[in-house]
Amino acid sequence: MPELPEVERARALIEAHALGREIAEVDDTDTYVCRPHAPGEIDDALTGTTLVAAHRRGKTMWVETDGGPVLGLHLGMAGKIVVDGAEAGDPKADNNGLNPVWDRFTVRFADGGTLILRDKRRLGRAVLDPSLDNLGPDAAEITRPAFHERVGRGSAPIKARIMDQSVLAGVGNLLADEALWRARISPLHPAESLSGEELDALRRAIRAATRSAIRKGGVHTGDVIASRRRGGSCPRCGAEMTRATVGGRTTWWCPAEQRGS
Ligand SMILES: [Zn+2]
Repeated sequence: MPELPEVERARALIEAHALGREIAEVDDTDTYVCRPHAPGEIDDALTGTTLVAAHRRGKTMWVETDGGPVLGLHLGMAGKIVVDGAEAGDPKADNNGLNPVWDRFTVRFADGGTLILRDKRRLGRAVLDPSLDNLGPDAAEITRPAFHERVGRGSAPIKARIMDQSVLAGVGNLLADEALWRARISPLHPAESLSGEELDALRRAIRAATRSAIRKGGVHTGDVIASRRRGGSCPRCGAEMTRATVGGRTTWWCPAEQRGS
């Protein structure tokens, strides 16, 4: 499932290869992916404009046009962005094979190339002028004071807190487990009882895990991810990993090192 690193790779792909190109036509006929827009509405709004900037906050991505509205793109559970055949997004998604049925939204450029939202599961979105109102600061960009203020409060387990997109945008299930393991903090620890040092360690761990995942190709490349299985052992100390459901998601951690719950 795409988290911040996968979406950042998709954004970077758009930035590198889709900007400065004039839009000749948009296939927005998938009314579910393009809701609430009617077929033809996005096409009418974007045709003739040029993509000029690609932005991201958390898992939300949007592309500016010159004179037209902003195009929001969301990868959902298994989406990829494909520009002229090169793709970025969920590396685990079974979206390969160029099955046109999985191309949910297509921007055709005047030069003949394309930008496609390819999504076998059809949970991605393409929407004009997306709202960012309910999104917290980006997990890779948030300042230290803002992190303390937003993350270090409430009695919910810290894992649930950092996955709340209105608190902090971009952390999903795997990135949360990876960052908490790197910071040696139990996922069950109540958010409000973390010390300032623990919050600093967690912020550094989220940034480092995010940078590493962007560089290596996705959150599945994290140091502890392969150990998230029955019988898996901690890559650092060798203790057997523990599993529970935290914040509604399957959670794995090292009970020897990640204490404090
Ligand atoms: Zn350990």
